[in-house]
Amino acid sequence: MNYPTNNQKVLIVDDSKTNVQILTEILGPYYTTHSTHKGSEVLDLAASIKPDIILLDVIMPDIDGYEVCRQLKKESDFKNIPVIFISAMDSEIDEAKGLQLGAIDYITKPVSPAIVMARVKNHLELKTYRDLLEKESLLDGLTGIPNRRNFDLFLENEMKRCKRDEKPVALLLIDIDFFKFYNDNYGHLAGDDCLKLVAKTLASSTNRTGDLVARYGGEEFACILPATDLEAAIILAEKMRMAVNNLKIPHNFSEAAQHLTISMGAAFVYPKENASSEFLINKADDMLYKAKNKGRNRVEYEKQ
Ligand code: GH3
Ligand code: MG
Ligand code: MG
Repeated sequence: MNYPTNNQKVLIVDDSKTNVQILTEILGPYYTTHSTHKGSEVLDLAASIKPDIILLDVIMPDIDGYEVCRQLKKESDFKNIPVIFISAMDSEIDEAKGLQLGAIDYITKPVSPAIVMARVKNHLELKTYRDLLEKESLLDGLTGIPNRRNFDLFLENEMKRCKRDEKPVALLLIDIDFFKFYNDNYGHLAGDDCLKLVAKTLASSTNRTGDLVARYGGEEFACILPATDLEAAIILAEKMRMAVNNLKIPHNFSEAAQHLTISMGAAFVYPKENASSEFLINKADDMLYKAKNKGRNRVEYEKQ
């Protein structure tokens, strides 16, 4: 067997010190191991350690392993962490129950070191691929920035968070001006290069890690600004507009300037019962439409 040398983290949960010691000796040379004797500590440890896999005993004095697994699978942050039950209960019913709760595997005690090692290694390899696929499915293939799916998930989440915290969410919708003429005259490949450069420029204009710049579709981009009011959103929008202007990408077929420009619509809401993501998107879209009508290469926003 090829032994792994990466830094994946294994969380071992067993009320017996001896069992924790045995599993740590098997896996410790190849992975970073953490352990606890208490089922009640697993959720907190999952949050702080962010383990790649959890080995979970079933019978424990405080909370049993089944209940811990149930709690993990309920939380969106933890539900993708593979759980392997390691249990002395070796009936088919016990094993089936563990698997039905969402565990990925079930190993009976006393454990065979070779089998524990092989199964953990297999499940961790699969997790690496799953994580990679998940990450790729959230990125736009051309520009490498977050895609529309990512945008939708992020906005839903931030609307919920800002509602809890009673903070506003701002949104910028961004559209390249006369981009059809650009493609028609300079070619689709040059158009693609342009999209990549604009994406990079917009993404590097935000300096807060909580903001998200995404490709919204075609030659449209969007920027979600959590906990941001309209004034701050407009300042950033102007900074982005100037940054794209300063690229000075020649565009002799634009009616807005001699180089490539963008138009932007800015909007914000305090998420409440009646303010959905669609409401915010529609407001920003109306403002973008206005920016186009007023001559492009500008930021429009709803006057307060
Ligand atoms: P406006 O200023 O009103 O936004 O005009 P526009 O020409 O930018 O808008 P329109 O919606 O008519 O055209 C958008 C163009 O964007 C058409 C399409 O060829 C181009 N486009 C969309 N996605 C891509 C892409 O992935 N690569 C390239 N090269 N072009 C794209
Ligand atoms: Mg468009
Ligand atoms: Mg356009």
